[in-house]
Amino acid sequence: MRLTRLFALTGAVLALLVCGMLGRLLWGEWEHYRAAGSGHHTLQLMQRAMIAAEKLSFERGPVNAVLGDHVPANPAYRARLLRARADTDQALAQLRHELAAEPIPAALAGALPLAPLDQALAAARQTVDQLAALPPARRTPERLELTVERMFRLVPLALDAVTGYTRASEQVYPRIGRILAKARLTVELREFAGRLGSALTVPLASGRPLTEGDHERLQFLRGRIEQLRQLIKIPSGDIDTEPRVLAAVARMDQLYFDSGQRLVSEVEQASRAGRPYGMDTGQFAQRYVPCMAPILALRDVLLEEAQAQALRDFQQARRELMLALLVGAAILLALTLLLLILRRRVVIPLLRATRAVVRLGNGDFSPPPSGARRDDEIGDMLRALATLRANSMDRQRLEQERLHLIEELKVRADTDYLTGILNRRAFTAAGNLRLRGASERNEALAVILFDVDHFKSVNDSYGHDAGDQVLIRIADVVRASLRDGEIVARYGGEEFVVMPACCGLEAARALAERLREAIANEPLTLSDGYILRVTASFGVAVAHGPHAVLDDLFHAADLALYRAKHNGRNRVESQV
Ligand code: GH3
Ligand code: MG
Ligand code: MG
Repeated sequence: MRLTRLFALTGAVLALLVCGMLGRLLWGEWEHYRAAGSGHHTLQLMQRAMIAAEKLSFERGPVNAVLGDHVPANPAYRARLLRARADTDQALAQLRHELAAEPIPAALAGALPLAPLDQALAAARQTVDQLAALPPARRTPERLELTVERMFRLVPLALDAVTGYTRASEQVYPRIGRILAKARLTVELREFAGRLGSALTVPLASGRPLTEGDHERLQFLRGRIEQLRQLIKIPSGDIDTEPRVLAAVARMDQLYFDSGQRLVSEVEQASRAGRPYGMDTGQFAQRYVPCMAPILALRDVLLEEAQAQALRDFQQARRELMLALLVGAAILLALTLLLLILRRRVVIPLLRATRAVVRLGNGDFSPPPSGARRDDEIGDMLRALATLRANSMDRQRLEQERLHLIEELKVRADTDYLTGILNRRAFTAAGNLRLRGASERNEALAVILFDVDHFKSVNDSYGHDAGDQVLIRIADVVRASLRDGEIVARYGGEEFVVMPACCGLEAARALAERLREAIANEPLTLSDGYILRVTASFGVAVAHGPHAVLDDLFHAADLALYRAKHNGRNRVESQV
């Protein structure tokens, strides 16, 4: 796999893993935040439902007063009942408003069946009004009990909602569950305390003594009330040590469990002693109802504590969510930066260096990638790469120089240093080659040997340098007179040899004659301005057949040259 691909793949997998981990973390924090938020809302709902239950409970007091009223009716009792009903209606309206204010959490859906409560409330109130409209004599104990019972049945309906919300809020938000459970117990305590008072309504209204059934009922209610008091006092964490809660519990003990219960006992004792009660239901209610107020005060303190706790938790959850978001963003940023730095500082330079090494291997010496000044391992590698390139370039240059020298040496080895034409060694090699070819083709091969006449006197008269210039010019003249395939070489001293391309003796003689004339007719101008004319004597020989030897051919040409000298110079002689 290519390095870039591997890097991209690794980066993607890493990013995916980190995002997954962060997502999981953030989701947890978000859930916590949402639970804390909906816990707050649930608490509001519960509080409203508790108040509604309390108002329903409270409404029974004025009902009892109205039902126990004499003729003429006390308008204050009626007014109190109307006020109580208005309070109940308002509490229920607020509960409905709270329910509609925000979407209800799934756990709470169906926790409050408000419709049955509304129907039961309307029916109970109608019964109360019908009975209150009758003259007191026609309000029989049975009818009174039936009406009071109807009022009693309302509170459990509201309490069902409270219980539903308590359970739901424990599920959604367990931290405030314990406090809410206690608050719910206070609502129940308030209800049973109310029932205790209501149990005396009929005897007080009719002025009859308490029956055994009444006593049993009072006994049962007191037991239940005591049980609830103990449940409320069971230690359940920090909340029990809160000074406000302790003070509220103490006030409840003092006002209800002392004064309130004493009032009930007084009625009981009066009944047992056969004494008149000395008060009607309204007067009893006026003394008894305030004793129950600390129970509701305790409920409110508990709810306030729960609210404060929920708010603290909500703020804490929000802080933690923000922190998790910040940390998540920082981790993602760091990861992105790390990958970018790795890509920029390692992967890309490595790829460029690899390409540069490959180019070097292929003999391409284009400049290596930049970054050799970097103070790290990649910098070391790039510096080494630059050194390698420089060394390779040097080696290549040396190799070229060597080849050039070899070429030059080869040329020099074959060239006469003075005239620039072939030397005797190179001519012998070329001559042997031609002779072999001519032998194979069964052709003749001629050689023309010529020697400058009286050259010694040129040297003697004009100096050795002038002699050299003469030799150079003669070589030029001969070279200019030859055609392609004809070669000339310096045979030694002032002797030259020519090998025509391919010809017989006569053609070679003709060529020799042309060369002789060219030399003789060419005025040779020396560097100091002197103009010389020199001549040369020529010997021509031809070899035939497969056994021809170059040395024999030269020898024959040399003999002919000798004859040319002997016969007067500046002439051409050929082998006989
Ligand atoms: P001939 O006509 O009989 O050939 O007379 P010659 O003077 O040419 O012959 P000889 O052999 O007496 O003299 C040849 C001279 O050529 C002797 C030598 O100094 C001279 N010579 C040989 N090689 C060179 C050379 O490279 N440069 C110069 N300047 N002179 C050379
Ligand atoms: Mg000579
Ligand atoms: Mg000579």
